[in-house]
Amino acid sequence: MKTILIDIDSLRPDHLGCYGYFKNLSPGIDSLAEDGTVFENAYACASPSLPSRAAMISGRWPESNQVVTHGPSGQTMNSPYNWSYERKNDWDGDLRNWWNLPELFFQEGIKSCGISSFARYPVPWLLRTWDEFIQPRSSIDQSTHATVDGEKVREKALNWLEDSSEGDFFLYIQFWDPHVPCMREEKEIEQIDDQLPEYLKNVDLETEGQRSADKKDINGEKDLKRMVQEYDAEIRHVDKQIEAITSFLKRKGLYEETNIILTGDHGEELGEKGVVREHWSSFEGTQRIPLIVKSTGEDPDRVEDRVSNIDIAPTVADLHNLEKPGKWSGKSLRKRIENSDWEKTILTMHGLYTVQRALIGERYKYIRTLHPGIRPDLPEEQLFDLEKDPYETKDISNKREGLLKDFRTLMDEKVDERSSEDPVSALGEEGPYGWKWNR
Ligand SMILES: [Zn+2]
Repeated sequence: MKTILIDIDSLRPDHLGCYGYFKNLSPGIDSLAEDGTVFENAYACASPSLPSRAAMISGRWPESNQVVTHGPSGQTMNSPYNWSYERKNDWDGDLRNWWNLPELFFQEGIKSCGISSFARYPVPWLLRTWDEFIQPRSSIDQSTHATVDGEKVREKALNWLEDSSEGDFFLYIQFWDPHVPCMREEKEIEQIDDQLPEYLKNVDLETEGQRSADKKDINGEKDLKRMVQEYDAEIRHVDKQIEAITSFLKRKGLYEETNIILTGDHGEELGEKGVVREHWSSFEGTQRIPLIVKSTGEDPDRVEDRVSNIDIAPTVADLHNLEKPGKWSGKSLRKRIENSDWEKTILTMHGLYTVQRALIGERYKYIRTLHPGIRPDLPEEQLFDLEKDPYETKDISNKREGLLKDFRTLMDEKVDERSSEDPVSALGEEGPYGWKWNR
């Protein structure tokens, strides 16, 4: 069995054709979606990048792996490997329970390779334990990890596949392109339709809160349109790399026998909730991710039920018939599809610029702000009807007090179930990482 996991930073699902976007940016991803199962309502269980990838790679909730924000605290993952001798009695001695996704493959003797420059963030835990880990270089600036062009990543991936695709493997490929800065040439940007998507048509650019966490000035609709064009041009660019990978597999006769999972670490807000071109909150723009699973022997499908990226590691293990390590939190999406009776309420967290938790039910979404960070105007609690109001424009918490109380209780119960030492509450006390460096 062969599996490729593709992770595209800051990719909003609603800017892809297969999720209904009106611009034709993603023929490569859309074609993959036609061959696989599209999860229409997938979320990062933790965001931004560090907590999101920590959950995906460790297979554990942020409350277990304890990675909840950027900066020094996110560089160490909670596991017996990092514990002092004094804590030796805190675990049962079976390290298999604590293996992360690449380590599972390594220990089971199946070759694995990670291709990503994210480890330079620095993210030491991402480097454990692969057969190979390849860090593509940026052609313009080695001081930052986020300017690696998708072409470089694709080149490394195709070289690896050329040499190593015989037999079973697990290949992880991480792209940066939709993340800032925009590196597309003017002609590539101009090719993109400049019309704003519906959800940005009534954005009030005059409010004081309308600002960018990375200080990008947007003064009027012209700037907003240009910024969306730049973002979309990066999606167009990364899509070409995906198409090149799937075309390569088809040419080599490997496409049918290779499982491909395509996802992102989080989305990107473009101004709909008051911050432009950032992933900064638990709102849908940040927390929703694309998730497409093309697996061998399964028919294409579309699934509306809510799922999160905590299920990716168990799905990959399941595709290879590997028993998932005991501490993993999620469930194989294949088993979930077979058994429709699964939990459809998702608990997520966010820890950069603000600290929030969201509980997303089949229809309603409850957000609790533990620390407002860069946005002091954020209320402590909000409730949205995602069926009527998918972009969270009307807070209904005052009108639906009974429902609000139910969500509040359910969130508390779910948090208690996960951990006795809650790192998200602790971050709420302390304040989010980006908020501190902006002060
Ligand atoms: Zn990211």
